[in-house]
Amino acid sequence: MNSEQNQRECIVCREKEPSFIHTVGKTGVFRRLCTDCLLKEYRELFCSVCFNLFDNAVPPQARIICGNCPSSTHLSCSPQPLSSSTAASSSSSAPPPASSFTCQPCSNPNFTFFPKSRVNDDVPEETPLSAESAMALIAAAKISVANMNNAVALLKEEALKKIIAAKAAKLRAKGALANLQDIVIQKNKATGKRKEDER
Ligand SMILES: [Zn+2]
Ligand SMILES: [Zn+2]
Ligand SMILES: [Zn+2]
Repeated sequence: MNSEQNQRECIVCREKEPSFIHTVGKTGVFRRLCTDCLLKEYRELFCSVCFNLFDNAVPPQARIICGNCPSSTHLSCSPQPLSSSTAASSSSSAPPPASSFTCQPCSNPNFTFFPKSRVNDDVPEETPLSAESAMALIAAAKISVANMNNAVALLKEEALKKIIAAKAAKLRAKGALANLQDIVIQKNKATGKRKEDER
């Protein structure tokens, strides 16, 4: 973790005090992101319309992927009405036509999944979240939790590998030492014999 980074600051948009901050780990580096930046960075993990996270229960053919980015949405959530009969039947193996869908962040550069909290603005603190923002916040929290669980599992695995490697190295060292002792004993025996022969 970068000690220079403000504990409450989003590392992507540099917003100083976002209303919510999420921690995610990527290749051993932990970063803090605001809700909007987290959702944009992990946009392939959830449906950009209903904010439900994709899991193994959602087959790839039941989603439609953005033509510009890895973001995808359920066929049933897709704003463009596609043949809803194929979306309903999971037996259809035909992939949805590519690039016929553009996700919201790609179609609108000013789009935010979650409102940025601006300093010194006239929006009162207690403005209730819209239903959509609440769903976005839940999705972001779920992504962060799943990500941290993965990061912890990876760290544990890494630690375990190191322990095993250390044990193996110890065994190898022991083996090498035993070999060395054998060699020394053999040599001593040989020299002892030679000395005996010299007599
Ligand atoms: Zn941000
Ligand atoms: Zn959806
Ligand atoms: Zn996109």
